[in-house]
Amino acid sequence: MENNIRKTLHTLGIYNLRETIEDASLKLQGKPYYWTDYPMAVQLDTTNRCGPSNSGIFCSYCFPQGEVLGGRDCHADMPMEWIEWIFKDIAKNMPHLTNKEWPPLQQTCLFLNGDWQNEMRSEEILNKYDSLLSWLPSQVFTCATKPSEAWRFINPKLKWVCVTCSAPDRETYKKVHGGDKFNNVIETMRNIDNNSINQHLEVHYVVTKDNFDGMKKWFNFMGNKFPRWRRVLSPLVKSQCNQRSVDSMGSLTVEQQEQAIHDVDAKAHFWNHQTTALRQPCVLHNNAAVTCHGEVLQCCNWDRKDKWNYGYIQDYIDEGRSLKDYWMERLANKQRNSLCRACNLKRYDAKNLLSNIEVTAKVKR
Ligand code: SF4
Ligand code: SF4
Repeated sequence: MENNIRKTLHTLGIYNLRETIEDASLKLQGKPYYWTDYPMAVQLDTTNRCGPSNSGIFCSYCFPQGEVLGGRDCHADMPMEWIEWIFKDIAKNMPHLTNKEWPPLQQTCLFLNGDWQNEMRSEEILNKYDSLLSWLPSQVFTCATKPSEAWRFINPKLKWVCVTCSAPDRETYKKVHGGDKFNNVIETMRNIDNNSINQHLEVHYVVTKDNFDGMKKWFNFMGNKFPRWRRVLSPLVKSQCNQRSVDSMGSLTVEQQEQAIHDVDAKAHFWNHQTTALRQPCVLHNNAAVTCHGEVLQCCNWDRKDKWNYGYIQDYIDEGRSLKDYWMERLANKQRNSLCRACNLKRYDAKNLLSNIEVTAKVKR
């Protein structure tokens, strides 16, 4: 096990298991990048249910629920056999990095386009997860608008709970999240806060033009109300295919967002996509993302997933493939993904980093 840990950390350019993320990120900046042979984080949409009919909100920057409301996608739950196959594939192929001093370099995120508060099989999924992957941190995101569902998050098998509340007050919340649910979110967070044991709790703020001036107020408000919770400010991922995100960002640039985040929280781990995230070409480069319909995508930033995908989970199962094959195909693909080419979350030197990779992959289509 010791050899395995050292080898895998070496692939990330990390040589000392005792160093902190701050030490490491300083050392990592500007150095060459090395590659793992399996995605470090796997995101799967056990359900994509959210939006006005399920959560009572429609966030100003939300792309997936807009696709559902526009009739180009539909709500669905991922079949349990796919969920189990993905958990088994991770258990078999993902190298174990279990250093507790690090934020999870590796994890499974049971979230992509929906919300865990609307996942009616939450207990069954977590029991299955725990039986196969108890060593790997599990994470969910939620808008937490339903206090009656708070119990779904209070489960030690769920290691990371991330609530998104991108507003310091009710009026800003209505503008950013498209619903009058600010008080509900605070009630859900209070319930989780009072009952959760041994879970990592985070509250997230996605920066848009409508809440840009409210960051400091939010940071202080959440710090006073929920001192246990880590506060995370994130720039909005603006994607050309997502007109809603373009409108939500207005004339703000990602650099302006990142600088403002740093001004509010000088200790923020993630505030500048040019220098952090372990020297990946982009902050989501080590991910695999699987939708509830089974499309395997390059990350959570997608468009035309029927066209731009790395195959379907059912085909992986039928053909005896693994997400390892997805990963090799993605590395071999380099810059030939049109979404990646237009993405504002790439590092300035992404092209050079990617051009250094020499991988060939067999593509079954
Ligand atoms: S909580 Fe997430 S999925 Fe739900 S409407 Fe907001 S951005 Fe979309
Ligand atoms: S470049 Fe953008 S679209 Fe491509 S994997 Fe990274 S974050 Fe996702």
